[in-house]
Amino acid sequence: MTTPPICDYTGSDYQTSFWEQGGREYEDRAEAIALRHLLPKSGKLMLEVGAGAGRNTPRYAGFERVALVDYSLTQLEQAQARLGRSDRYLYVAADAYRLPFVDGLFDGATMIRTLHHMADAPRALAQVRSALQPGAVFILEFANKQNMKAILRYLLGQQTWSPFTREPVEFAALNFDFHPAAVKAWLTEAGFRVEKTRTVSHFRLAPLKRLIPAWLLVRLDGLVQWTGALWQLTPSVFVRARAKGEVVAHTPPTDVLRWFKCLSCGHTPLERSGEALVCPACAARWIVQGGIYDFRQ
Ligand SMILES: [Zn+2]
Repeated sequence: MTTPPICDYTGSDYQTSFWEQGGREYEDRAEAIALRHLLPKSGKLMLEVGAGAGRNTPRYAGFERVALVDYSLTQLEQAQARLGRSDRYLYVAADAYRLPFVDGLFDGATMIRTLHHMADAPRALAQVRSALQPGAVFILEFANKQNMKAILRYLLGQQTWSPFTREPVEFAALNFDFHPAAVKAWLTEAGFRVEKTRTVSHFRLAPLKRLIPAWLLVRLDGLVQWTGALWQLTPSVFVRARAKGEVVAHTPPTDVLRWFKCLSCGHTPLERSGEALVCPACAARWIVQGGIYDFRQ
């Protein structure tokens, strides 16, 4: 099976230009509120797909360890600079369509502002499900095509695509908005049960953000996020899903090499050989450099 095209943030100053200087304090803090309501109090091992520069990672403090996955090495380097190199964090460069982890490893996962870049969303969701044990929590954020602005534009004839139909809309290259019903159907098909939905960024409108201080917009957003259970008309939607299946007590192996599987033949564990991981069954190799496991080739 060929891999769909990948959105690569290598060399991007996304963290600085979009988050730190881009006037996104409101969006960032509104996400923090959603996460507070959706995250379990504690957990062992969290998988963060599309971790970027680790903006959300400190919010997973209830989990003992976190594996940060991103396709971009430079984003992971920024995450490392922010979070440090320790046993608590594992940095993995990989493609969301080919996650290098053994089945059922994680008891939690998040994917925030990432599905947005997936040309084959169901395939990425299936990869996350495989890496999770039954009963694990998965928090997914997606960009919602059925948002108020898109609806108004469509009704006024300023936009050709319908916000009400289930197919994704690619509004820029490798940037997709999804219909909430489609995402829910994909999650169910991948083996998840949707438990909670919160709508986020109700007030993402430039004039409002200019007029009203961010702290107040954040407070207001926090007060209305629960309405996501009833309808979803915001540009961003958070879902808490749970991996279906029989729950068995499970502790991840302490040896990180046992977390990985060979992407060529599926063998586990991999072996360490100098600055690389090697599959003893088929001799495939992956570089480990500066504390980052690189599974992209
Ligand atoms: Zn192999």
